[in-house]
This record gives sequence, C-alpha cells and structure tokens, in this order.
Amino acid sequence: MPLKLYNTMTRSVDEFTPRDSKTVTMYTCGPTVYNFAHIGNLRTYVFEDVLVRALAMAGFDVNRVMNVTDVGHLTDDADSGEDKMEKGAAREGKTVWEIAQYYLDAFEADMEHLHILPPTVWCKATDEIDTQIDQVKILEDKGFTYTTSDAVYFDTSKLPDYGKLSRQNLDELEAGKRVEMGEKKNPTDFALWKCSPEGTQRLMEWPSPWGVGFPGWHIECSSMAIKYLGEHLDIHCGGIDHIQVHHSNEIAQAEAALGHEWCNWWMHGEFLLAGGKMSKSSGEFLTLALLIEKGYDPIAYRYFLLGAHYRQQLQFSFEGLDAAASAIKNLTRIVEPLRAKATGAEQPIQAAMASYIEAVNDDLNMPRALAAMWNATKLDAPAGEIYATLLEMDKVLALGIATMAEDTSDLDPAAIDALIVDRTTAKAEKNWGRADEIRDELMAMGIEIMDSAEGTTWRKA
Ligand code: AMP
Ligand code: ZN
Repeated sequence: MPLKLYNTMTRSVDEFTPRDSKTVTMYTCGPTVYNFAHIGNLRTYVFEDVLVRALAMAGFDVNRVMNVTDVGHLTDDADSGEDKMEKGAAREGKTVWEIAQYYLDAFEADMEHLHILPPTVWCKATDEIDTQIDQVKILEDKGFTYTTSDAVYFDTSKLPDYGKLSRQNLDELEAGKRVEMGEKKNPTDFALWKCSPEGTQRLMEWPSPWGVGFPGWHIECSSMAIKYLGEHLDIHCGGIDHIQVHHSNEIAQAEAALGHEWCNWWMHGEFLLAGGKMSKSSGEFLTLALLIEKGYDPIAYRYFLLGAHYRQQLQFSFEGLDAAASAIKNLTRIVEPLRAKATGAEQPIQAAMASYIEAVNDDLNMPRALAAMWNATKLDAPAGEIYATLLEMDKVLALGIATMAEDTSDLDPAAIDALIVDRTTAKAEKNWGRADEIRDELMAMGIEIMDSAEGTTWRKA
C-alpha cells in the first residue's frame, strides 16, 4: 500500500508523491526559544517525527529543515506587543542570546528524550537576517508591499487567492479579525519588517533598507525554506493553529516572490488539550522536564501521543500517561526475553509487517500501528523473529525497542542473585521451607522469580 497523507490544502487523503521521485523536501516550523516547549508543542514535533520516519519507511530520503525562532518578534500575530526574547531575558536576568541558547538546548534535550530525529538542517532566524531582508526586497520590487511610518507591510489585497489554505476569503478573514489597524490597509496585512521605535534601542535589531529593526515572523520561515529547499517544497507542517495566519502568510509571501505555487502538501497536527496548562505566554504550562521530574519515562509520553491520530484533538491526563507508562513497562517485559533469545539473524514476519505498514501508510494511523505491534508480540513464532519484527516496527514508533530495559537501578542484583543461589541450594537439599522463605523474602523486596528448565530468573514484580 502506498503512503497516503492528508493535505490541508486539498482537504483530502491522497497518495503522496514528491516532485523528485526519491527525495522529499520538508519544512517544519521550529520552536520559539524564549521559554521551554510545552507538552502540546512537543505533540506537534512527535507527529512530524512520525511523518519523517514514515516517509523513510516508504523508501524516501527526507531533506528536512527546521527553523529556530530566536528573534523576539511580537507576542501574537497582531503587529503589536512585547518582544518575547526581551521579556524572557528580563524574567531570568540573562542576555537575549543566552536565553535563546538555553532554551534551544532544552528543546534539543526534549527531542532526544522523545526519540525525535534532528532535522537535516537547523537554521536560526538571527543567522539569516540577510536572507529575510532579500525576500522583503523582492516583494517590494514586485509591488506587494507598502511602508508605514514604522514598518513594511505585505498587502494581502494584492493576492487574489490570499487565505486559500484556510479557505476563508479576505472578507471573511477581515470580518473575523479585531486588530488594531494602525496604518495597515487591510486587517490581514502583516509586517515584513518592523522598525525599532525612534530613539529606542532594542536588544535585538539589525540595519535594513527600511531602517534599524527586525523581521516579521512569517518571512523568517518562507525565506529560509526557499533558501534551503528551493522554489518548490514538497511538505510543510506545523500545528493546526498555524493554518489561518502563519502558514497563510508564508504562502502569500512565497508565492508572491516566486510567481508560482510553492508547496504541494500542507500537514497540520491537532492540539493537545490540557485545561489551562498550555499557555506559554502566561507561563502556565506542562513541560517534559516536569513529567520526568515526576518519575515518568519520556517514552511513555511518546507512547501516549501515538495512541491518538494526529488529526484528532487529544486531552492530556495523568491517568492517560500512567496507562502509557504501564504499556511501556509491559512491552519491556515482553521485549527483554525476546531480545535475549534473538540471534540477530532473524527476519521480520512479513504478514505482521504488512498490517503494520498498512496502518502507518493510512495517513499515519499510529493507534492502529500500535495495535499491530501488540498483535505481533502475541504471535506463535520464534522469539528472534518476533523481536526482528518489533525492531522493524520501531523504525517509526521509535519506542526504543533495541535498548528498552527495566529500571533496576533501585535494586541490588548481586544480593538478589545470592538469594537465588541459596534458594537453589535449599531446593537441591529438599529444604522446601527455606526455599519458600527465600521466595517470600524476594517478593517482599519487589522481586518475582521464574523457574524454568534453564534455571531461575527474576524481574521486578
Ligand atoms: P511555538 O513554539 O509556540 O511556535 O509552537 C511550536 C509548535 O507547537 C507549532 O507548530 C505550534 O503550532 C504547535 N502547538 C502550539 N500549541 C500546541 C498544542 N496545544 N498542541 C499541539 N501543538 C501545539
Ligand atoms: Zn513557520
């Protein structure tokens, strides 16, 4: 079954084909690094990671670019508000550059914890100011901009199909927007370059043909995507909140500058809901670091996310996360003995792989893919073949099948082994009372023992 994906632009699930039959160009909107990513943000990055891995499983090479929004920009999509980076720096008594590096490092640590593959290219907005200025100049030369006393704006009324991604026409979009118009001509117009207010010096500002200031957020993504991935993009993704403004504006800028359609496939991940605990600007949000601090294995969070289709909203709950953590624990208990018996030469079981691949290729249906994985663990087949199958499936699931192991750091394996030897001796001497006593002693330590023809093994109860 070929890989089929939903395209927000066409509103349909279709067979995916890149322009070049082998390599997929993909741009994913990256993190804003003025604070930690919240677990909702991470849901979007896990969805994108599943996409990258599914593309690889389907035989494509993926050339993926992810930006880092380290320019302060504005607190929302309206063109007013505080600079997020300056706000973060003031909050923490650091420089804006220190803030950006600190939160980028934290984001990369989150990615690693969740087994999210790094992009082929990372690009920081502050390293690419010239790229952004060049794009604004092109738009200016082509007549898509106008300047006000303090900014260069994109004139959305110049593009007849503005808003085609959200399928709202300009009138509908304008009616729905209550923004400070200031000197803007249309409510949907947006800043390409914003000048620093006269007489003030911002912590992050750069010279430009329009005055000292900083680029708009939308131009960051489209200009860097074109620079690194060329005039035609296969896939662009992000969270669902980006459809109406950010991605619509990226399309407007890119297509106005290029003079042709830009990106073939738009993919958006639905939101993770967590009551009021998901607002980065208010500072109230759940982070992966907090889940780890509470004792959760970060992979339990990945498993929790895979339990819902990426186009459906998902309600976060600690009960749900507990269930995911138990599933990982159970899986570990199944995997460890399989791994012990595998030689490494076994092949995945084709029939099991077929139903798994069908689920992944059906617009990344990970709940079904997980079910296919559990079915594989129950197959009546040699341990090594089941293990090889799980390893193959893990190329997309990325639960860490190859290395998953029970956490025994709180145990003293030498003491447990010594007790097991004593018990074996007691049994050999037909001292059943002592053997039972040792079993109970181990049970009280939270250790379960299993006797077999090969001897006695143990695990955490
Ligand atoms: P930001 O760092 O705020 O630019 O967001 C990073 C990514 O997370 C973007 O792709 C957003 O669309 C996405 N996002 C924001 N909030 C949520 C949420 N609650 N659930 C899932 N994705 C989100
Ligand atoms: Zn973006």
